[in-house]
Amino acid sequence: TSLNPAALDFLERIERQFHVDDAQLQIIVDQFLKDFEAGLNKNGQALPMVPTYVTHLPDGTEKGTFLALDLGGTNLRVCQVTLLGNQQVEMKQSKYRVSDALKTGEAVDLFNYMADSVDHFLTTTDVAPGAEDEDLYLGLTFSFPVDQTAINKGKLIHWTKGFMATNAIGHDVMQMLQDALDRRHIHVKCAALINDTVGCLLSHAYFSGGCILGAIFGTGTNGAYVEDFTKVTKLPKGAFEGTLPKSMVINIEWGAFDNARKVIPRTIFDNKLDRESINPRFQAYEKCISGMYLGEIVRNILLYLVDNSILFSGYSSKQLNTHYGFDTELMSNIESDKSDEGRTVREILTEKMGIDDQSIGPNDIAIVRWACKIVAGRAAKLSSCAVAAIIHETHCAEGNEDFLDVGVDGSLIAFYPGFEDGLRESLRTLVGESIEKRTRIGLAKDGSGIGAALGALGALKAE
Ligand code: ADP
Repeated sequence: TSLNPAALDFLERIERQFHVDDAQLQIIVDQFLKDFEAGLNKNGQALPMVPTYVTHLPDGTEKGTFLALDLGGTNLRVCQVTLLGNQQVEMKQSKYRVSDALKTGEAVDLFNYMADSVDHFLTTTDVAPGAEDEDLYLGLTFSFPVDQTAINKGKLIHWTKGFMATNAIGHDVMQMLQDALDRRHIHVKCAALINDTVGCLLSHAYFSGGCILGAIFGTGTNGAYVEDFTKVTKLPKGAFEGTLPKSMVINIEWGAFDNARKVIPRTIFDNKLDRESINPRFQAYEKCISGMYLGEIVRNILLYLVDNSILFSGYSSKQLNTHYGFDTELMSNIESDKSDEGRTVREILTEKMGIDDQSIGPNDIAIVRWACKIVAGRAAKLSSCAVAAIIHETHCAEGNEDFLDVGVDGSLIAFYPGFEDGLRESLRTLVGESIEKRTRIGLAKDGSGIGAALGALGALKAE
């Protein structure tokens, strides 16, 4: 390019900050393994390592009809899932809007609304044959933090995502839902409470015949895997009656990895993001990786370059000055434009970001592309560490030549160009080429619907 040497040197210094070399990646994997162990032994450690009370993975032969309820953000989804037992499913579903009044009112009204939605769904949908006079079993995907004590018991710790319904915190969400259903004499039994990563793991296991890891790379990032039961030493005695299970699915909550800032090299752009966030010092790994934050890191870089008169002739815009004003989706669109002249990139900068077309100099398109690439490239590399750590932790690659299936979900891994390739490339350096080649990364189908149904089936079998 025609950048002057001083500007080039400036950019190179930024790029070096985002570089994570192979030795550092290995140190991160080793730290993951230490944190797994600590979190399995005791509560309150670096990684939460939440026991989910799910003790088996499906293999695709499961059969039956179940209800799934998914309370996420704006919508409540009710599904009827019929598992056909040959890695096939049939599904019917309806969406119900969750109004702000419900999110912020009395919790009992929210749970009544959930029960009403189930009732509406059942009366307007053909219920599967044979299910009319029997209880239907329901799995709930509940994407809020809960303190789970059984497959069908969990107390809400706190709300997130704009929910504030009163008299819910500290209460068992499954009991609240069951009570609401019972008040309406709806013959549905709340059987399983499932986290979205667990749903991802279960669903992918059903369709692939096995799964070593369910991982989300969307707004946030997290993973769940199957651990030896004997290694989950923090479980209270008497958590299980009779014979103990062989394994237990663990919800890692890996977004919290490296909150202590021990192993991930941080840039001034990460530090700025963290101190200006609503949760400084928390979710450190997530802040380097997930869709909610990558755009913000890029925005910080772009502003730094503007302030140093290296970009956009030193001019910004209202949009670029706005906290979280540069969405990760734009990075994805910028990197998708492979043309020389970068017409889409220019369009995004002028139309979406409000940058004056005259201020966009000959090198600026390339600089913006470069900023997206170094931030997303680092995210992909860091993501590979969690995958490598699970391969080590579970010993799943040892003594066999099987495929290692990883089920993933989230817009970042589904749509960001080169994200999966970048993840694979550093996975190769971490676990070796032969294991990397055996690792199959696939999008999990509807973890929150099919996964919740599989959770309900698992609970029914364990009864
Ligand atoms: P969620 O994780 O909330 O269930 P998604 O998986 O759709 O939902 O993730 C949403 C996040 O992904 C947002 O942070 C958004 O910026 C980002 N995103 C949306 N579209 C894309 C895309 N095409 N490429 C990369 N990231 C995207």
